[in-house]
Amino acid sequence: MKDETILNHDTYEDQHGAVVPPLYQNSLFTFKDWDAIDRAFDDKAGNFIYSRLLNPTVKVAEDKIAQLCRGEKAKLCASGIAAVTSAILHCVRAGDHIITISNIYGPTNTFISSYLKDKFNISVTYVSGTQVSEFKDAIRDNTTLIFLESPASLTFELQDLRAVAKLAKQHDIKTAIDNTWASPLFQKPLELGIDIEIHSVSKYICGHSDVVAGVVVGSKEIIDAIITAEHELLGAKMAPFEGWLITRSLRTLALRMRAHQENAHHIAAFLERYNEVKRVFWPGLKSFAQYDLGQEQMSGYGGLMSFELATKDISKIKNFVNALQLFKLGVSWGGHDSLVYAPVISYLKELSPENFHAMGINESIIRVSVGLEDKEDLIADLEIAFQSI
Ligand SMILES: *Cc1c(COP(=O)(O)O)cnc(C)c1O
Repeated sequence: MKDETILNHDTYEDQHGAVVPPLYQNSLFTFKDWDAIDRAFDDKAGNFIYSRLLNPTVKVAEDKIAQLCRGEKAKLCASGIAAVTSAILHCVRAGDHIITISNIYGPTNTFISSYLKDKFNISVTYVSGTQVSEFKDAIRDNTTLIFLESPASLTFELQDLRAVAKLAKQHDIKTAIDNTWASPLFQKPLELGIDIEIHSVSKYICGHSDVVAGVVVGSKEIIDAIITAEHELLGAKMAPFEGWLITRSLRTLALRMRAHQENAHHIAAFLERYNEVKRVFWPGLKSFAQYDLGQEQMSGYGGLMSFELATKDISKIKNFVNALQLFKLGVSWGGHDSLVYAPVISYLKELSPENFHAMGINESIIRVSVGLEDKEDLIADLEIAFQSI
């Protein structure tokens, strides 16, 4: 089945002909006798026993996401970061070494560079990720995981997924990718040889800015191992109602992604022509440094982008952001609503100025999540804000 059909056609058992899968708002499941519950425990990850491990409403969404990603199995979690940390913990033991990219999502970075280091003596090497040779050179005897994010969600550098997956397999190293930006529609990392695909479902998959959730996708072997270890023991499970909302959201994922892409392309092209803008970071632009690699491994582009204002005057940058009416000021992204954010606001509270600049960013970088409003209205909003600089 094609993606649009997977998203909109249900294969679950008939429930009185209900067109929407029912909400099983329950914590446990009962059995008709001793033998039945005994048998269920033979496959804890695959039978309905207790909703911390498996719930039928959540499973409807998990099965669709697994199919969409061309994976054998998916597990929804309480947040994107729960999916990230579960996947990483699955791949490492105390004393191991991880390779990741310098511009990895902030909390993922903190988990690896400080939490895992302090508690489990796990070390990390950062690479820009744009050359496969960087990964090769960083491999050590104790490297067990290469953690990718392509495109990265602020400056949008890509990694060559097929080549990195091949390299990792030769060295018996697992690969995981945070695929949130491209969504399961526009990039299929498992088909390119990556072992574990992760999404912050809070972004495009849910898309309505009303749920915080995450998902891990991969082989049945890997996902079952995560379910009976990290998921069961750390407990970052998804609530049934959130699973129900996610199935609702999945119906329109393909339509929404096409609209995000169209609006984003229009706005990126507008920004690129604008004098007040020095650079635009969006992999869908022909001027993007890794445009060809993007064309090869993605089939479309998400709506999150950033740009550098020509001015370095912080009061003018503030005026610009404050003048926007349709782009609301806030964190997160990937919803129906257009958003604006300036990394300088919070990053400099968490990073030293040197580390901030080492990310290839500066005080003049503005990030926008292009939503589903009319694209000409969004352009008009930007034009008015530029006049305030
Ligand atoms: C938001 C985000 C996460 C974390 O997801 P939550 O659902 O907020 O926990 C992880 N990776 C990327 C790229 C994100 O943007």
